[in-house]
Amino acid sequence: MKNPGKMIQFFNTLSGKKEPFHSIQAKKVRLYTCGPTVYDYAHIGNFRAYIFEDLLKRFLLFKGYKVKHVMNITDVDDKTIKKADHEGVSLKQVTDKYIRAFFADIDTLNILRADLYPKATEHIPEMAHMVKALVEKGYAYKKNGSYYFDISKFKDYGKLAKIDRDELKTGERVESDEYDKKNAHDFALWKDKKPGEPFWETEIGPGRPGWHIECSVMSTKYLGQPIDIHCGGVDNIFPHHENEIAQSETYADKKLAHFWLHCHHLIVEGSKMSKSKGNQYTLRDLADQGIDPLVIRYLLLSTHYRKMVNYSDKTLKQSQSSLERIRSFLYELKTRSFAEGENPEVKKWIQDTEKKFTDSLSDDLNISLALTSLFELIREINKLMANQELYHNDVRAVQSSFEKWDQVLGILPKEDEDQLEASIKEKIDQRNKARKEKNYDLADQIRDELLEKGIILEDTKDGVRWKKK
Ligand code: AMP
Ligand code: ZN
Repeated sequence: MKNPGKMIQFFNTLSGKKEPFHSIQAKKVRLYTCGPTVYDYAHIGNFRAYIFEDLLKRFLLFKGYKVKHVMNITDVDDKTIKKADHEGVSLKQVTDKYIRAFFADIDTLNILRADLYPKATEHIPEMAHMVKALVEKGYAYKKNGSYYFDISKFKDYGKLAKIDRDELKTGERVESDEYDKKNAHDFALWKDKKPGEPFWETEIGPGRPGWHIECSVMSTKYLGQPIDIHCGGVDNIFPHHENEIAQSETYADKKLAHFWLHCHHLIVEGSKMSKSKGNQYTLRDLADQGIDPLVIRYLLLSTHYRKMVNYSDKTLKQSQSSLERIRSFLYELKTRSFAEGENPEVKKWIQDTEKKFTDSLSDDLNISLALTSLFELIREINKLMANQELYHNDVRAVQSSFEKWDQVLGILPKEDEDQLEASIKEKIDQRNKARKEKNYDLADQIRDELLEKGIILEDTKDGVRWKKK
């Protein structure tokens, strides 16, 4: 194999160290990422998690893996029910609205879509069935119509969050889906029907699922068990992922996932962005301020996933200027004219950059180093450009490399057909004006620039037409 590059390594929360990554099936990755609870617009802290997962997935695709990606949508839980109640509308009215908003936002942020987005409400019988199986195996029990997982029975309980088993409060129960490590208790798998709350009639009785069971059911149903990688934010480690492990590994007698990857939080001036702190921004808030969504993407992407990202005016400006540097460099390449030929140095620079870029990402997604390698290349190419040592073929090679690397980064705007058409039309207008003013040199220059981009102009009796070379 030609230059395979560095071996991929990821930091596995389960082992607490970096490990070489090997997929279970050759060149195929089964990836599960915990998705949104659709009771409100997602804030950009949530997108920190989704963009880290997007980088992971894009990098695996870049390295030639086929990735099957499933992300659940939590459309019934304490928070969605509370919101519907508060607004006096049905649960579905609330969740449909925020599901639509979620998809619009991930498209705006250039996040690749998952293969499947299963919803909790569409898997109720399967969840009830898993609960029943856990009871039959002796790991779960019923109390006042609700079902709980008995954490004392699962000897590995705490292996992900590193909880000391002696500190476990067994026999005590916790109703709420979210609680801290110090309060590790038997957790709710299924909640009894309550007045005013939606419920489903199932083989284990009426009620609704706890939050954790949906991920165990959907992960196994759509990806099998074990899977290669399971992701989320660090706040998912406990209790959500710990409880998923307890449920799934008891149910199937197999590991749930080989790798557990968690990103650190987005913070605003030192504290976690969250609804309860009132310091959250949605993508819409930022778009209203005229901020380019790809600058937000860059900001969320460019800090290593295991470090905190700080959202502030300063980091926003830094991201804006870094992205601008890449874009204006590419704009220069696109719009300037270059002499025919090539400079052998450029090929070498591109190869070195490609190696640094992929080796950095192979090392637990070291995005900072990967981006640095691109800026180094930009600096070198700019020098050549200034000295007139950059030629037509070099430009093509640099452009296509950036296009390739952007498959991983997703930070460059796609020039779609409409945009292309508009920019050609603008050039034709400029050329017509130049000709009217008898500035034939400028007119010819515009024609040549378009030709460089593969656009041929034809002067016909009905005016100027264009076609692709
Ligand atoms: P939720 O909708 O609250 O279940 O969260 C969806 C995802 O966003 C989970 O993976 C969380 O870990 C993640 N998340 C929530 N808040 C933040 C934050 N401030 N920074 C990074 N990730 C977050
Ligand atoms: Zn989950």
